Amino acid sequence: MRLEPQRGSQYDARIFGVGLVSDRDGNAALRGGRLSPQAYAENFADAHLPLTPNQASIESDRCYFCYDAPCVKACPTQIDVPSFIRNIATGNIKGAAHDILEQNIMGAVCARVCPTEVLCEGACVRNDPEQKPVAIGALQRHATDWLFDRHVQLFERAPATGKRVGVVGGGPAGLSCAHRLAMLGHEVTVFDAHDKLGGLNEYGVAAYKVTSQIAQREVAYLLEIGGIEPKLGVRLGRDISLSRLRGDFDAVFLGIGVGGVNALGIDEPKLAGVFDAIGYIEMLRQADDLSQLPVGRSVVVIGGGMTAIDIASQVKRLGAEDVTIVYRRGPYDMGASNKEQAWAQTSGVRIKHWARPLRLLGRDGALTAVEFTRTQSDAQLAEDDASENFIVAADMLFKAIGQRLIKEDLDGNANVLEMNAGRIAVDAQRKTSVPGVWAGGDCVAGGKDLTVVAVEDGKRAALSIDRHLRQQSKTGAHNG
Ligand SMILES: Cc1cc2nc3c(=O)[nH]c(=O)nc-3n(C[C@H](O)[C@H](O)[C@H](O)COP(=O)(O)OP(=O)(O)OC[C@H]3O[C@@H](n4cnc5c(N)ncnc54)[C@H](O)[C@@H]3O)c2cc1C
Ligand code: SF4
Repeated sequence: MRLEPQRGSQYDARIFGVGLVSDRDGNAALRGGRLSPQAYAENFADAHLPLTPNQASIESDRCYFCYDAPCVKACPTQIDVPSFIRNIATGNIKGAAHDILEQNIMGAVCARVCPTEVLCEGACVRNDPEQKPVAIGALQRHATDWLFDRHVQLFERAPATGKRVGVVGGGPAGLSCAHRLAMLGHEVTVFDAHDKLGGLNEYGVAAYKVTSQIAQREVAYLLEIGGIEPKLGVRLGRDISLSRLRGDFDAVFLGIGVGGVNALGIDEPKLAGVFDAIGYIEMLRQADDLSQLPVGRSVVVIGGGMTAIDIASQVKRLGAEDVTIVYRRGPYDMGASNKEQAWAQTSGVRIKHWARPLRLLGRDGALTAVEFTRTQSDAQLAEDDASENFIVAADMLFKAIGQRLIKEDLDGNANVLEMNAGRIAVDAQRKTSVPGVWAGGDCVAGGKDLTVVAVEDGKRAALSIDRHLRQQSKTGAHNG
């Protein structure tokens, strides 16, 4: 990563809807153009280089092709990992890609974003202190990139069933569901509030893991199967209602993610420089020119999950001088894996554990610092001991303390849909409590908020919907 002395233009406050912030010297503290064009390009380049064919061949030979392989069980989509690696080893890259995509249609993005260290690679039998696990994610990327680079379509639709399914949300859960349903011969309409499909692959995940080009390449591949009609810029709860969808379609799948941002739980005076991490990341992912993004000198991020790691690493890469993540518990309690934490630290981010915010401090309407109190142990979380408080100077603060389901989107049906811990309750088949309505991905209870889990949810729901619709055809029943 390349960081350079600050220089360049002020960001356009009109574009980003926030006021400029002045530091002690009277300089604008939030501004873009802190780095050279070359530094932006280097800092946001693909974080991991792809394997060369030779490297892929050598790496595939390291696999023991275990019987009852633990990596298969550890993959939420149960990709037959030994089979796809054996195919790479024997030069059958198309066969390898088929093994991957038949289980996980978003295998190309998952190869880049899965926390493999806690999933498939974490379970690899070669994972001991003396050796490294087989690089399953990198091999998966090798096979799927080979396929996409050659525009090879592996899937086709079954004969039309005449059944229609409404899918709300075009993220990994919704798209995976839509693709499987289309394969099985159903007609699918995908409604999404954004003007592009892809969900957080397009608007959320760090730019150095997945570019828009990779996300949209996958969307195009998925849609190529036919039978999927996207309706973009359409919001459930505003433009359409769940009750209407239930009337218009034979089945409905909800994959609306968790778009609401949790509050800090303290008084939040309106200060320029305070951002919600998700909103900023969306802006970053859609920016044509990274030098236009406002960046502070001293940045504080509050949170402990992947969003906190991503915003901290990216704002550092945009040229912030000091970036500190503050998390209220210890390193092992963080939602982000050890590898993710190490990644942020090697990007120059400081992680401070066992502290929570007490007060936002400001001057002339702009953030200047955040006061924290220490939270040494669970027993002390509720204690306010002023002697343990400390202040971190900050001209920019990101709230990254988790997201929540926006219940208003469910237009009153939140009262009908059974909820669990603020998310939609589903059974093992991803059926909700409302007949004819399935749900999956981040919006359902009990998930792990990972792309690969959302893809599996969508797939499972599609298979369950398919069984239901075929049964319905036999019995002539509706919305069971
Ligand atoms: C910053 C960040 C970084 C992440 N990094 C990783 C990572 O590295 N690896 C990983 O595995 N996971 C990561 N995740 C988690 C992963 O992105 C999610 O688990 C995954 O995208 C969930 O898919 P989904 O389809 O359920 O929801 P989403 O991807 O959120 O898609 C939901 C879709 O529904 C649409 N929508 C929402 N409300 C409505 C409505 N009312 N009407 C119509 N459409 C609506 C949205 O526009 C969106 O397209 C990250 C998440 C964040 C926030
Ligand atoms: S989808 Fe993710 S967890 Fe599954 S095998 Fe591929 S990289 Fe591993």
